[in-house]
Amino acid sequence: MIHIVLFGPPGCGKGTQAIILKKKFGFVHLSTGVMFRHHIKCKTNLGKIVHYYLNQGLLVPDHITTNMLNVEIKKNISSNGIIYDGYPRTKNQVFSLEKILKEESIGKIDVIFNFSIEKNLLINRLLNRGRKSYRDDDTDIITVQRRIEEYKRVTACIWNEEKWKNVFVKVNASSSIEDISLFIEGQILKFF
Ligand code: ADP
Repeated sequence: MIHIVLFGPPGCGKGTQAIILKKKFGFVHLSTGVMFRHHIKCKTNLGKIVHYYLNQGLLVPDHITTNMLNVEIKKNISSNGIIYDGYPRTKNQVFSLEKILKEESIGKIDVIFNFSIEKNLLINRLLNRGRKSYRDDDTDIITVQRRIEEYKRVTACIWNEEKWKNVFVKVNASSSIEDISLFIEGQILKFF
């Protein structure tokens, strides 16, 4: 079972690539953002709690996020692979992911695709997406900027341990959707 992490700032195109990969390889796609928005839309208890954080562009506290993710991982232990999109975003989340993969004996983090992109391009993409999707957290420039700041402050450094060097693959996220997916597919095929 392969574990693929898509990593990069908000709006860099992780979700788009995750959907393409899911179709192509039949992997399970776990997006924390999609899950949270689903809970908010359905007005679940979890949705009521996380609503505040998403609207402010702040990270949801780790224990909430990791518990939610662990439930989903346990549901999918017999799949051929999982794509993590928007997770992990903190060092605690990295530890938690490593821990559950070990406990369930379902492998390890095999590859981390690091999407890199210019800041200006990012802000434009997010605001554009907001206009189309009506995502509240994408329409407000302050929230968009706060998410990018949170990314730089908390998330960008989570893989700085030496052991992740070998699994890190840089992706030029300014290229076209098709070029990026061809590149990623090529990298994943190396595992089969
Ligand atoms: P984007 O990557 O475009 O910011 P996401 O859909 O991944 O969008 O996330 C939207 C929001 O959901 C984040 O701003 C944050 O509030 C919350 N969120 C998503 N993933 C996590 C996570 N791993 N840890 C904490 N909060 C998260």
